[in-house]
Amino acid sequence: MGDYNVDPNYDGPVRHVIYCRSDWATCFGVHETVAEVQDCYRKARVARNDPDYFPCGWLVEIRTEDGIAAIACGALARVTPRGFECEAGHEHVHAEVRHREGWEYAEDLDEAHQLFRAGVEPRTMAGQVWPA
Ligand SMILES: [Zn+2]
Ligand SMILES: [Zn+2]
Repeated sequence: MGDYNVDPNYDGPVRHVIYCRSDWATCFGVHETVAEVQDCYRKARVARNDPDYFPCGWLVEIRTEDGIAAIACGALARVTPRGFECEAGHEHVHAEVRHREGWEYAEDLDEAHQLFRAGVEPRTMAGQVWPA
């Protein structure tokens, strides 16, 4: 395994690729470690056995050869009474709950100010109260 088609002067790490045949929805099909493949199978198994589990769809930024790309988090997420939370630490709260509790997500400082002026408590996308 591995890529032998490299520049002879290349002295970076050798990338090994392991094909993953799990049916985890957000898996790209290749991993660099056996542990990652095992993790995919674990997540797929948990989700298959319990409908409260699903792949986290939270968009995260990754560095690719073409720059920054946004992909779905893909960690194991679980439905909670308020929304969902995933193993990577994402917490999402449903719109009804946010409304009832009087707060809203703000993506940037401008949005946070707008919410604040409208009498709604702004919180970061991670759910923390926006630092004043
Ligand atoms: Zn996988
Ligand atoms: Zn996540």
